[in-house]
Amino acid sequence: MTAPTSSAKEESSRRWALDALARIYSAMDADYEKAASAHGFVCQGCGDNCCRTRFYHHTLVEYFYLRKGLRALPDAERSRIETQAAQAVARMKTVGDEPPSEATMCPLNALGRCQLYAYRPMICRLHGIPHQLRRPDGRHQVGPGCGDFDRQCGAACAPILDRTTLYAALAELERELRQRLGFTDKLRMTIAQMLVEKLALPDDGGRR
Ligand code: SF4
Ligand code: SF4
Repeated sequence: MTAPTSSAKEESSRRWALDALARIYSAMDADYEKAASAHGFVCQGCGDNCCRTRFYHHTLVEYFYLRKGLRALPDAERSRIETQAAQAVARMKTVGDEPPSEATMCPLNALGRCQLYAYRPMICRLHGIPHQLRRPDGRHQVGPGCGDFDRQCGAACAPILDRTTLYAALAELERELRQRLGFTDKLRMTIAQMLVEKLALPDDGGRR
């Protein structure tokens, strides 16, 4: 991992990025809500629960954001989550890919609720609704909704959430942040890993 020197400039870059990400997340939430309400889709009480899905996350800025939320929790709650996250990481190393029926629940999900809902990453915000995406290479990509979406709205529903501008905004923010911090590593982390694994970045007094 790259280790640029710590500085006030870097801290201000992180703060700038987190503010910018909050605005992008607001846009994601608004687009998702618009698409969901247009089709009467409600994500509630579903048996599939995608919080058991092992999604990977790839951005430094979302890593910072999630950990900002973790730091804001009361000590006991943070400690409980970190313990569960460490167990999830250990289980992942032991069993590898799990069948969906046995998949490990995200350590942030307690009694069906996300404990860092306001800080959850992009895929947690956009999952569930059929989507389309115009990739930077010009290709058109489509993705299905979740099983519960199909049950509620019909599997034949056309892609109704366009992720193109949302992905582009996040990619540009990530590019700029990495450039400012001199961070070049590729990231591929589960939520559990993001919660317990510290990236080798400049020491900032534990603020990450
Ligand atoms: S971060 Fe929250 S929404 Fe995302 S998988 Fe974990 S519990 Fe579910
Ligand atoms: S997005 Fe779909 S799979 Fe995930 S919890 Fe909501 S209804 Fe269930």
